[in-house]
Amino acid sequence: MIPRVDIYILQTGRIVVAVNSAKKSFRQYPGSPFITFNPFKPFSIYLLPYRRRIVFGLLFLFGTQIIFTIIPLLLKWGIDAAKTGLDSAQESGESMDTVFDGISDSLVFYALVLAGLAIVHWAMSAGMRWHLMAVSRYVERDIRFAYVQHLMTLPLAFFQRQRVGDLMARATSDLETIQRFLSHAYRMTLTAGMMFFLSLILMCTIDWQLALLSLAPMPVMALVTRFVSDRMRNGYRRIQEQFATMVARIQENMSGIRVVKTFARRSAEIEQFDQLNEEYIDRNRHLVHISSLFHPFTFMVNGISLTIILWLGGLRVIDGTITLGGFVAFNAFLIRMSRPIMLVGRIVDEYQRAVASMTRINAILREKPQRRHDAGESDSEGTVLRGEIEFRKLNFAYNGQPVLQDINIRVPAGGTLALVGRVGSGKTTMARLLPRLIHAGPGELLIDGTPIEDIPFAVIRNAIGYVPQETFLFSDTIEENVVLGLAGTELEDVVHAVDTAQLTSDLEVLPDRMQTIVGERGVTLSGGQKQRTALARAVIRKPCILILDDAMASVDTRTEEEILKRLRHVMADRTTILIAHRISTVKSADNIAVLENGRIAEQGTHDELVAQNGIYADMYYRQHLAEELDEME
Ligand code: ADP
Repeated sequence: MIPRVDIYILQTGRIVVAVNSAKKSFRQYPGSPFITFNPFKPFSIYLLPYRRRIVFGLLFLFGTQIIFTIIPLLLKWGIDAAKTGLDSAQESGESMDTVFDGISDSLVFYALVLAGLAIVHWAMSAGMRWHLMAVSRYVERDIRFAYVQHLMTLPLAFFQRQRVGDLMARATSDLETIQRFLSHAYRMTLTAGMMFFLSLILMCTIDWQLALLSLAPMPVMALVTRFVSDRMRNGYRRIQEQFATMVARIQENMSGIRVVKTFARRSAEIEQFDQLNEEYIDRNRHLVHISSLFHPFTFMVNGISLTIILWLGGLRVIDGTITLGGFVAFNAFLIRMSRPIMLVGRIVDEYQRAVASMTRINAILREKPQRRHDAGESDSEGTVLRGEIEFRKLNFAYNGQPVLQDINIRVPAGGTLALVGRVGSGKTTMARLLPRLIHAGPGELLIDGTPIEDIPFAVIRNAIGYVPQETFLFSDTIEENVVLGLAGTELEDVVHAVDTAQLTSDLEVLPDRMQTIVGERGVTLSGGQKQRTALARAVIRKPCILILDDAMASVDTRTEEEILKRLRHVMADRTTILIAHRISTVKSADNIAVLENGRIAEQGTHDELVAQNGIYADMYYRQHLAEELDEME
């Protein structure tokens, strides 16, 4: 099937492409579709693709309202017909039996029409709900998709400053509020609006002066609504923010449950959570005060105006300006018209909640995505890097705080550079610059002689295998964790990678070997096993640059030696950056750089550095001595 492509050009000039096919529709929102936020149409961009469904829903809604409006008219016609029949019978002196027969025939006719209309009303009402409620679910899906898709494009720095719990709250609680509004209050607003205008028009046909009088409470309602709605929106924003803080706290406590228990923080954490919970309730209570005053106010204003109009209407029946049937119908319309006015409170309430939530989601959608390389993804195909790395007068600072200064070092393709130095000397920072998790200044870091900022992201990330200090494993099988979506991998590739990482013998004792599920839903691996799984994940990608950032800290010396031996074979003509604390790990590297306070203090081979008798030699002798002492014990 050929998909239909809809292109929407927004006020901002941005283009939103929606590809629809009969079964599935996939939408792509380049960047944020909400760059300019129109407070009156916060959901329109998401509703637009479903305009056909909405039109059908509205037609059904219109039908239900027409039927709903006809019913009082039928009452009017029925009553007036009966009254006219009785009056004319009295005047002409006709037999009462014949008159009653005639009246009951016409009443049966009206009753049958009413029953028929009730059935049509039911069918239309079902159709209306079917279409409009489905739209609310589709919109929920699309906003969530746009949100998650956008999150994935955001730079690492964004996730460092944002709490996971908060992001989760936006994708769940906030989105649910929007969905609830779209499925319920949106429908209610449309129904109420239509009910209001149809009733008003028909009331005008009965008695236009009384009808216009019934609009008297509107200006008061509008003023009060305006006054409370901003307060409500702010109130809801504060509630949602507090809710997000609570979710973030729960999430942190669950992730750090071991720390909480080990450090006997249980009571303190519960107490802190209690405070957050109380604050949440306080903020809710504040809003309850506003809405408890506002809702009854709408009822009160409406009640007063109803009473006045009924009284004036009664007088008009007495003086014969309107018929009795007209008065009954007018009342029925009046009650119908007053319902939307009474609903204003609830609609405003739900609307403000939804807008507050949409604003929170938009705040994330407005975050600038990580800039993709101008050269584009397609240019990257077929580009193969050799793996020569050069740090050229490189300086780097975190938030203005210098971390690396005047780094000059060249690693030829296929060479091994080891980085050693105290904790905090800048080793990890050097490693993270290569896959561009953080960004070097222009021309300060080169791969194959090209400044790294001129190489497409895809090329760099395909070329680099990075094993960080902290490994993250998904709640999936070991095999899936190693492959991690890499296309075209065979089982033997996985076996080879696992073997290089010295994980094969560990797998033997796991219940389902390579198919064992690890992480939250399965087996907990030891620190060393996790590191080796991450190593296998990097090795299977056959990267031209492999970065091991203290990746074997939790692995014993003998296993480490074995891994290094195999890696030497695998990485024979590839570049390796090795960060380690053990001299035994780095000893055979082609070049060793010693970092001290963000500068390269010493550089050379193991033998050269030992001969220099500097920091490296000191580290070496101390570790050597410790090993000898261990052996003596
Ligand atoms: P090493 O790997 O040698 O232990 P790092 O490169 O991790 O050192 O850290 C070097 C310095 O940079 C440290 O002082 C550390 O506190 C700081 N640092 C590391 N990461 C960040 C960050 N994301 N934001 C701010 N400062 C950081």
